Amino acid sequence: LGGSISRAIQQMSNATIIDEKVLNECLNEITRALLQSDVQFKLVRDMQTNIKKIVNLDDLAAGHNKRRIIQQAIFNELCKMLDPGKPSFTPKKGKTSVIMFVGLQGSGKTTTCTKYAYYHQKKGWKPALVCADTFRAGAFDQLKQNATKAKIPFYGSYTESDPVRIAVEGVDRFKKENCDLIIVDTSGRHKQEAALFEEMRQVSEATKPDLVIFVMDSSIGQAAFDQAQAFKQSVAVGAVIVTKMDGHAKGGGALSAVAATKSPVIFIGTGEHMDEFEVFDVKPFVSRLLGMGDWSGFMDKIHEVVPMDQQPELLQKLSEGNFTLRIMYEQFQNILKMGPIGQVFSMLPGFSSELMPKGREKESQAKIKRYMTMMDSMTNEELDSSNPKLMTDSRIMRIARGSGRQVGEVMEMLEEYKRLAKIWSKLKGLKIPKKGEMSAL
Ligand code: GDP
Ligand code: MG
Repeated sequence: LGGSISRAIQQMSNATIIDEKVLNECLNEITRALLQSDVQFKLVRDMQTNIKKIVNLDDLAAGHNKRRIIQQAIFNELCKMLDPGKPSFTPKKGKTSVIMFVGLQGSGKTTTCTKYAYYHQKKGWKPALVCADTFRAGAFDQLKQNATKAKIPFYGSYTESDPVRIAVEGVDRFKKENCDLIIVDTSGRHKQEAALFEEMRQVSEATKPDLVIFVMDSSIGQAAFDQAQAFKQSVAVGAVIVTKMDGHAKGGGALSAVAATKSPVIFIGTGEHMDEFEVFDVKPFVSRLLGMGDWSGFMDKIHEVVPMDQQPELLQKLSEGNFTLRIMYEQFQNILKMGPIGQVFSMLPGFSSELMPKGREKESQAKIKRYMTMMDSMTNEELDSSNPKLMTDSRIMRIARGSGRQVGEVMEMLEEYKRLAKIWSKLKGLKIPKKGEMSAL
């Protein structure tokens, strides 16, 4: 007992030392997370130095939640490190832009070229693809296949071996055809590395791209800085795209790529398919780097929205990647119980804008009740499974009949489930903090 009292007294008189200890503990914890997320060691060290300068220990002594203050500072610092201070060149619809993609073989260039084209095409642009990779056998076939699937015009050759020539011919042709986004895919490998970078320099010089995009695989780890720098030294890289963010890698190499190229990340790739492509959003990205799941403030929201006694179980299920129909049902129940629905809803990822458009709360409420009636006609097995294959046509018909609804409505409800399951699946692997802990992020 005597020991603990004297310790307590010591703590009171040495508040600053205590705060410094909390700060260091916090920093160490986060350093570990960042290194695991492949953030370059030097950048982690810079971040630490900056944080120590920014966090005022006196403020900490006065503040109630020290960890929260420190974590918020670290979060902000990482966001800042991902912002090179100036936006990248943005093409304008209706005005011709040439965009050149560079990156090592396997980084996802060809896939990303198509995604980028498709993304803009959906918004009414006239994109076109040029295959200037003459090194890899099958490169043109791959681009051709992708382009055909997306109905995007393409240019390339099976016989011409000069990438510069193909690039120039392709760009010229599509300029004549008034395409407003001419995308040049390049090779990522050569017999010699120096030759690859010389080739990139030549293609760039000949096609005069408005923007060069460096494509980086999120799983390359600590190699990101050198890779990005090597490309930057031969061509004027102006933007970064990080691919394979659907995998295990957290993408900490993006910080290196931004530092090495002084360019922002503009998109991320989240799968092999054409539409698995998202505009880069810095806050969820940093949350993920820190091992926090994908939403900033998400844990706070969960604590606010989900009744306390149900939290541990729900969070456990979500962290296992099991977003079942029953979980959706239970969330619907919570939401209906909780009254002013719009307010609560806006807090849950995926539930807000699409399921519950603002100003249409009544309709949304009716829709949710309808969905729940249909789910009442489902079996326990169906409710507890996260395997949509269980839902055969005959089961869907039975559920429709059982609930007095149309087959189309059951399918709509299942689509809604799939949409939510996809969003919530990002919580898989979530570390479950206690209330208050880490919630600053
Ligand atoms: P390139 O050599 O740089 O042109 O790379 P490719 O576009 O050929 O992609 C290499 C491999 O990565 C292919 O199997 C792609 O399907 C895959 N890939 C590309 N982007 C993504 C992504 O965002 N997620 C996943 N899971 N795979 C991707
Ligand atoms: Mg390729």
